[in-house]
Amino acid sequence: MHEYSVNNESLVDETTITRDAARMRAFPKVELHRHLEGTFHVPTLHTMALRNGLDVPKDLDSFAASVQFPSDSEPDFLKFLSLFRNDWYRSLDDVSLIVSNSVASAADDGIVYLELRFSPEHFAAVNDFDRATVIRTVLDAVDEGASKGGFRARSLITFNRSKQSAEEMIDLYRIVDAASDERVVGVDLAGDELNFPPELFRPFFDLVQSEGRYRSTIHAGEVTGPEQIWEAVDRLGASRIGHGVASLQDSKLQEHLREKKVALELCITSNYQTGSWVDQESHPFGRLLEAGVPVTLNSDDPTIQNSTLTDDYVKAARFFELSIDDFEQINRLAIESSFLPDNEKVSLLEEFGERLRTFRDEQKT
Ligand SMILES: [Zn+2]
Repeated sequence: MHEYSVNNESLVDETTITRDAARMRAFPKVELHRHLEGTFHVPTLHTMALRNGLDVPKDLDSFAASVQFPSDSEPDFLKFLSLFRNDWYRSLDDVSLIVSNSVASAADDGIVYLELRFSPEHFAAVNDFDRATVIRTVLDAVDEGASKGGFRARSLITFNRSKQSAEEMIDLYRIVDAASDERVVGVDLAGDELNFPPELFRPFFDLVQSEGRYRSTIHAGEVTGPEQIWEAVDRLGASRIGHGVASLQDSKLQEHLREKKVALELCITSNYQTGSWVDQESHPFGRLLEAGVPVTLNSDDPTIQNSTLTDDYVKAARFFELSIDDFEQINRLAIESSFLPDNEKVSLLEEFGERLRTFRDEQKT
């Protein structure tokens, strides 16, 4: 721990900084695990829902409560998943508006780089929009939002294990491959881990690996044991793991993750609400960090969770006594573990360093 001094006159204890959401909001952050569908800008969504004639509460607060996980609820994975509605949109302009406003609002969390994931099916299914057109619409809107918010962004395409077979994923992959450009840097496997283990999707991941265009991150060990993490890393070629809280149970796996530099994308608030971990105070983040496992800190679905990425930082500071230096290391590792090309990682590391210097200077008063 350090104290921040100004001419040895005023001292600000470091825990005062790291445990204060108003201060930590400005800490420069890299986020690698955020689902676009779980991060909607609520006022924009409300206006759209009313305009499109959906049966939703007329006042904004009641509407917000209706799309968010109740703060007094017990952890409940199915209740959590039920909040991902996909009937908001009537046109591609609707898609564009909600995406750009949602991405822009990530600036409130001090984001410097956002690796955002989305499912083309989520946006296309109800209106049967052309998938390639939807993908391009979302990518353009992500650019618009990131430029409004003043940060960099790239996208990952989410494939849903409970809704798509390996063959259907391969069909969607072909569409993504033709419709996308360098703004898409990876693929993600999400959905029901319990009933759809990663091995079912080997033909799809064999294709992803043999083509070599995209890196992979796979949700594994969120509500299942360490075996799905082994499978994702060793047989499906995952470069990162979504959640992976179960790696706490397996020290050999921890060593494997360290050696192969496979980072875990941990999400304290989400892991509690979904029942992935029993509480927030004893979340594996602190112990995995101490064990030298590559860990990153993420929000997952901030709107659904009624929380922010900054809230997760403050929780990590309180529960695991993280210092500003710890947060710096976590974010530098997130940049190394991102799916950006190497030259962009270098320039992002520089930008992050500059933003961090500014942050440290501002904390002196
Ligand atoms: Zn996720």
